[in-house]
Amino acid sequence: MNSMIHLDSIEKVYRTDRIETVALSDINLDVQPGEFVSVMGPSGCGKSTLLNIIGLLDEPTKGRVQLNGTAVSSYKDAAIAGVRNREIGFIFQTFHLIPDLGVVDNVEIPLLYRRMSGGERRKLAMAAIERVGLTSRAHHFPSQLSGGQQQRVAIARAIVGQPRILLADEPTGNLDSQMGDEIMAILHGLQQESGTSIVMVTHDPRLADQTQRIVRLFDGRQVQ
Ligand code: ADP
Ligand code: MG
Repeated sequence: MNSMIHLDSIEKVYRTDRIETVALSDINLDVQPGEFVSVMGPSGCGKSTLLNIIGLLDEPTKGRVQLNGTAVSSYKDAAIAGVRNREIGFIFQTFHLIPDLGVVDNVEIPLLYRRMSGGERRKLAMAAIERVGLTSRAHHFPSQLSGGQQQRVAIARAIVGQPRILLADEPTGNLDSQMGDEIMAILHGLQQESGTSIVMVTHDPRLADQTQRIVRLFDGRQVQ
């Protein structure tokens, strides 16, 4: 069986005219379908860079990325946007919801890039909203929701297109521990019921211990 995520000797160097920052060096990682992995390490060690590379938001300077058995060959190709849209859901610490849009409209955003009727979009969005337990808030605006609820909307948006990979960059970083536990319960549910592969960056050892495996980074390198 193919790994869902396969990283082979990934290096990422950021270059400006004067400084070179090695953000990642010789990273090798395999994540299986339905596996829940957490990434830990001090600030600046390359966690977000790693997630962005898995999520095809950033191109490695060396090494290869393979998602669901397919090597990512060209980062300029329009096809890459399609892969990102279909295969990957992203959740961020600061939610990144659009304040002028209501909950359903926020959740529908990834579907706007697919050939789909408005009615179909709405149906899928409502199903994703139900999945995160927010049906009664479907017509609220983000500012009318608590932080935990906003993060649940962001999860609904990330999963509405049924991606096989969910990437979460400190998803509980702005939440109290009870809300954090709610978010973790939703992620565990997705992993178990939908077989989604999840990679989550966290600073919280308590949450990392709930995942199947912890990848530790220090100064852009994997440590054991
Ligand atoms: P973490 O998420 O673990 O805090 P990051 O992946 O954001 O770390 O950053 C890793 C390193 O790469 C840091 O030293 C950071 O300053 C550097 N870096 C990240 N993004 C950029 C960028 N766009 N340009 C230059 N340096 C960057
Ligand atoms: Mg980060």
